[in-house]
Amino acid sequence: MLRFFVSVIVFAALCFAGTDAELLKHADANLKSSSKNDQFKAYDTYKQVYLKALVEGNDKVCKRCLQGIVTSGRMLHIDVDKYSKKLSKYKQAPSKKTVVHRKKKSRTKTASGKNIKLSSQRALESVQWNGGDLVLAFDSPLKAKDVNYFSIQEKKKRRFRYIFDIHSIQTKNHTIKHREIKRIKLGQYKSGTLRLVIESTKKLPLHFKLDNELLVIMLGVKRVKAPLANKPMHAKNKTIVIDPGHGGKDAGAVGYKRYFEKNVVLQIAKKFAEILKKDGYKVYMTRSSDKFISLRQRTAFANRKKADLFISIHANAVPKKNTKKAHGIETYFLSTARSGRAERIAAKENAVDMRGFKGGQKGYLEGMTNRKTIASHKLAIDIQQGILSKMRAHYSDVKDGGVRGGPFWVLVGAQMPSVLVEVGFISHPKEARRLVNRRYQKYFAQSLADGVNRYFSKNP
Ligand SMILES: [Zn+2]
Repeated sequence: MLRFFVSVIVFAALCFAGTDAELLKHADANLKSSSKNDQFKAYDTYKQVYLKALVEGNDKVCKRCLQGIVTSGRMLHIDVDKYSKKLSKYKQAPSKKTVVHRKKKSRTKTASGKNIKLSSQRALESVQWNGGDLVLAFDSPLKAKDVNYFSIQEKKKRRFRYIFDIHSIQTKNHTIKHREIKRIKLGQYKSGTLRLVIESTKKLPLHFKLDNELLVIMLGVKRVKAPLANKPMHAKNKTIVIDPGHGGKDAGAVGYKRYFEKNVVLQIAKKFAEILKKDGYKVYMTRSSDKFISLRQRTAFANRKKADLFISIHANAVPKKNTKKAHGIETYFLSTARSGRAERIAAKENAVDMRGFKGGQKGYLEGMTNRKTIASHKLAIDIQQGILSKMRAHYSDVKDGGVRGGPFWVLVGAQMPSVLVEVGFISHPKEARRLVNRRYQKYFAQSLADGVNRYFSKNP
């Protein structure tokens, strides 16, 4: 299952890469057009892809996008000084792909006070028993040089210690136990080095292997049935507002067999809230019954609760003639960059209630900060990946609709990272049947919680 999990991530990454390349191709074509409208589209697209590349630390794409932003921006008489400065920095440095996972920690000061970049910091994501094997999963691949293994065997004292020093950091506490083993300790040994000590009263036929992001340690002990339950240590002191879309007079989308979006999203949201509470988060819901709430009230509520995250849950739908074609799960974040698709979805979700947004778009564009957009984008990626990896483990043909930025009014005004999840197409016969199914809803709620944990483990 872990291997599957990893392949899902790789798959998702490939999907994103494909979309970006296509988007950039489109933008390049639009840039050549004489229509101002097309040039504007190009400008927006470059910015959208740039933001994503920035999040992913993909310098090559960043550079390409910056070139696009500067060229299109100048054609449109937009002030692109900021971008052109960034571009000149890229031109000085040789372009190569570097993934920096933790910007703050990967920079350190030299004696002269200049910032230098260290190599990327790997983080431990999870520890699980897989049968009798202990599996440590990291957020980037391990090489032989990243793991230093040795053992201290004291026969007379009946003390056998097996020690792994791993080039990585830890973002949460893991309690690892096994009936046959005296003690298993895992902790930050020194900066950048994680130490795992397995202590036994008898000699273990221990061996291990590296499998991309995984360190698999075969201990030769009995199978462990129950998975390890680790409460994420970051859950403490974090507040999450869950926003089930629509409600009351606003049914949202009406789908297959007249299933209502407002009901499906409330059912999933309630289960999601329960799981997060069990994980130790403080959770509020904008509505927990079938009542109407304006879009503006929803984010205002999250702001009042000083939430760390705002997650809006919706379901998608298409007109009758396309119901069998459109399906899949999508996650959106608020962004001024648009794609046609994001705009269509946003128009649908925005339609019911636009009160309180009379100021038009200008106000919200000004209110958006780059930092919040990047955090929301990261959250969207983690949630989408959390959903896909879990749902695909349980159901076949779960479609990745992708992560996109768009002008969603319900996210406007949220002072914290915020996303809107379209849990699927309620108009699609098969997906609708799943969406009203309790077991599917439960898995979906768990997968959303996985996404939240994934986000906080990287952004504590
Ligand atoms: Zn909706």
